[in-house]
Parts: sequence; structure tokens; C-alpha cells
Amino acid sequence: PGDPALDDPGAEYGYRDEIAAVLLSEQDLRAKVRELAVAVAADHDVDTPPLLVCVLKGAVMFLTDFVRAMPIPTELEFMAVTSYGSATTSSGVVRILKDLDRDITGRRIIIVEDIIDSGLTLSWLLKNLASRNPAAIDVVALLRKPEAVKVDVDVRYVGFDLPNEFVVGYGLDYAERYRDLPYVGLLGEHMYR
Ligand code: 5GP
Ligand code: MG
Ligand code: MG
Repeated sequence: PGDPALDDPGAEYGYRDEIAAVLLSEQDLRAKVRELAVAVAADHDVDTPPLLVCVLKGAVMFLTDFVRAMPIPTELEFMAVTSYGSATTSSGVVRILKDLDRDITGRRIIIVEDIIDSGLTLSWLLKNLASRNPAAIDVVALLRKPEAVKVDVDVRYVGFDLPNEFVVGYGLDYAERYRDLPYVGLLGEHMYR
């Protein structure tokens, strides 16, 4: 008589037999997001609110939890980019799908990212935003994979280092599915092979 949620963690969200395991539970995520929010806020000034740039769509769950845990005011912007590649890898050739709505000259920017894998997308984004003359740019990423250490991107705040496996949930998708899961899980291999 096992707990069905443990036997099949996707089942209660309508993804029957699709999620192999929970890697980071809702509790794990909540605690880490609070920790990151406090750490980032400590490096910023209440009087000059940082401008958070959320990279759509994967970072949206992280962003909304993160800003609500921040003990200082923040302002929000959204950017959507796409990186050509297969469904599970990126190429570094990036295209802007939705740009920022305002000028960021002189602002302190915090890029809010879901996951850094090869680091190619982020290094492109850092260059792109730096060319707009902000006062500073920092990066907060919820997740990072081992490959990311190979590229020279300065990520000041990282939530969790992950093994080199494809994860979904808490904003992260596979073919636009699974973003709605409240945890980060491992997609069953039979789902993409
Ligand atoms: P990078 O350019 O660093 O290789 O990849 C960045 C983007 O690829 C992430 O923002 C994310 O959208 C996607 N990505 C990388 N690894 C994973 C993963 O394990 N799961 C999912 N769902 N997306 C990933
Ligand atoms: Mg991303
Ligand atoms: Mg994706």
C-alpha cells in the first residue's frame, strides 16, 4: 500500500507515468528561494530598487516566489528569448521574442534565470543587456548544471547545482509541458527517447 504520490509523482497533477522522480520538493524550493532573496537583498539598497529581468518562460515561477520573499522593493521586466537547438539542448544562437519595455540605462539589473546548462543563452543575454549601459548586472539562477562551469559567465547567486539530467517543473518545460508542476522533477526517459 505505497503512497501514490511517491510511486508516481506526476499522477496527482495529471501527468500519469511521466515523471520519474522528484528532485527538489516544494519545501526545498521554498527554503532556497527565501535564502536567495535575503542574500540578494543584502547586496542592494532599499532606496535604489533593482530592476529584475525575468527570462520567460522558465523563470516565471521562480521570479514570483523570489520577489515576494525579497525584503526590499524591486521592479520587474520580462524578456523572452529563444535559443535554436533540439528540445533538450541549446545552440547559443539566440533570438529575442519579447524585449524589455523600457530603457535600463543606469539601472542595477538582476537577471532572473531558471537554469544554466551550457551557459550559452545567458552569456548572450549578458552581452546584450550590457550594451544598453546599465549601472550593473548580476545574475540569480535557481538551478545550474555541471556543463555551466565551462563557460565564462559570472553568476553571482545560484540555488542548486544539479546532476547532468533533464529536469522539468516549477516553470521548466519539455515541449511546453510540465511547467505547472510545483516541484522540480526528472522526466521519465521514455518521454523523450
Ligand atoms: P543553456 O543556453 O544554458 O544551455 O540553456 C538555457 C536554457 O535551456 C534554459 O533557460 C532552459 O530553458 C533550457 N534548459 C537547459 N537545461 C534544461 C533542463 O534540464 N530542463 C529544461 N526543462 N530546460 C532546460
Ligand atoms: Mg531560462
Ligand atoms: Mg524550454
